[in-house]
Amino acid sequence: MKRWILSSMSLAQQTAISALSQNSNSSVKVFVNRTLNMRKIKFIGLDMDHTLVRYHSHAFEELSHQTMCKKLVEQKNYPAAVLNLKFDVNLAVRGLVIDKKKGNLLKVSRHGGIRASYHGTKPIDFQQQQKLYKSTYIDLSDANAYAAIDTAFSLSVATLYAQLVEIKDSPAGETLPDYETISLDVIEMLDLSHRDGSLKNEVARNLDKYIIKDPDVVRGIERFKKHDKKFFIVTNSDFAYSKLLLDYAINPFLKDHKDWTEVFEYVVTLAQKPRFFWDTLRFLKVDGQTGAMTNFDESLKPGLYQGGGAAKFAKDLGVEGDDIVYIGDHIYGDILRLKKDCNWRTALVVEELDSEIENYKKAQPFSKEIGALMDKKEPLERQLVDLITKRIEASDDSNESRVQELQNQISDIDKVISQNIKKQQSVFNPHWGEIMRAGNEESYFATQVDRYACVYMPKLSDLLDYSPRTYFRASRRPLAHELALGLD
Ligand SMILES: [Mg+2]
Repeated sequence: MKRWILSSMSLAQQTAISALSQNSNSSVKVFVNRTLNMRKIKFIGLDMDHTLVRYHSHAFEELSHQTMCKKLVEQKNYPAAVLNLKFDVNLAVRGLVIDKKKGNLLKVSRHGGIRASYHGTKPIDFQQQQKLYKSTYIDLSDANAYAAIDTAFSLSVATLYAQLVEIKDSPAGETLPDYETISLDVIEMLDLSHRDGSLKNEVARNLDKYIIKDPDVVRGIERFKKHDKKFFIVTNSDFAYSKLLLDYAINPFLKDHKDWTEVFEYVVTLAQKPRFFWDTLRFLKVDGQTGAMTNFDESLKPGLYQGGGAAKFAKDLGVEGDDIVYIGDHIYGDILRLKKDCNWRTALVVEELDSEIENYKKAQPFSKEIGALMDKKEPLERQLVDLITKRIEASDDSNESRVQELQNQISDIDKVISQNIKKQQSVFNPHWGEIMRAGNEESYFATQVDRYACVYMPKLSDLLDYSPRTYFRASRRPLAHELALGLD
């Protein structure tokens, strides 16, 4: 039974659960896709927003939502009713895909199979979904048609899009543009809110409300520095905002250093990731006192910079790519291009993982019940297949009543399984279920994590809790035939 439960989970979940079962104190917080030997790592690179400095996500997403609503009314002439929309944290989860042309949100499996779909805020039933998509598989590389919600800070985009589609379909929606334009408008307003300072200014005015102070991060970094690990920051935020956040979240907890400029050898602001990882833009030197910038064409020395590119950065540090691990929270911005274009090692922060694992534990009784029912159902299915095979091949229909009986028994078990699946899924997001899984398959998001992140964890301090000499070893991953034959 245990094997059935494991085989029906994503690899990511299997890793998490096996880690939990081996360590009943749940102390395992770093999950390993590819072996990472921290003893060999010389430089630890950090993204700032949502990685080194965490946000109170709900409050920040609510702010993004409100700011976008305001801009849509002011700049795109959306109806004033849009201002009354409230941010609903449950409407979207990370990893969903927006179908821009049809006004839908999709939960997609590793191969692009649609496993759940909503039109606006209303679920689409399976028949309707089949009509809409003919094949249940979609080509996620088509950026004109689809947009992936791959960060925790774009949930407000998906939520607002769903709400606007709802308005568009109502009599009040006459003045709204088509679904595709709505999606482009929402994304444009989020970009604008970041660019014009609407969000940053509000965060700066209310740091307590939006920014988490985490002494464990600072303690961990100072401990790693004792082992000669060097740290740097590469962030897309500008210098003034970075300074504000680092002064607030890092300085108060420093024990061995006066301020964060002593902690991080290099701080690169306005880095334009993911472009930083593949392009060769020039570095500018930043004056830490005035924020003024000057051209800089020499070899990099520890200090503050703006712009630049990863190739020169690694060369001037005098290290090979695999001497560096870079930790970020954004699959596309931080990890995907980095993995494709540089050979730096990667670690991904997935802040939802803590609650996902908690929920997984809550759902265990239902998972066990489903496993027990499957154990009951499988022999009945085998008997049924045998009888029907005989009927066809030997023209023997003497067991027709037994066939009927087996079909009824299987159908009864299926009903109970289905009730248990509903209960199991209700523990997770009420609309979308688990983040790392789509039905029995890995979710598209879990596949991205698996493919691009060497290790992943709920937050940076989870990694820093380990010894700086830790060998994060990937477990042997069972293949389908090994699982089936018990060879794992
Ligand atoms: Mg970030």
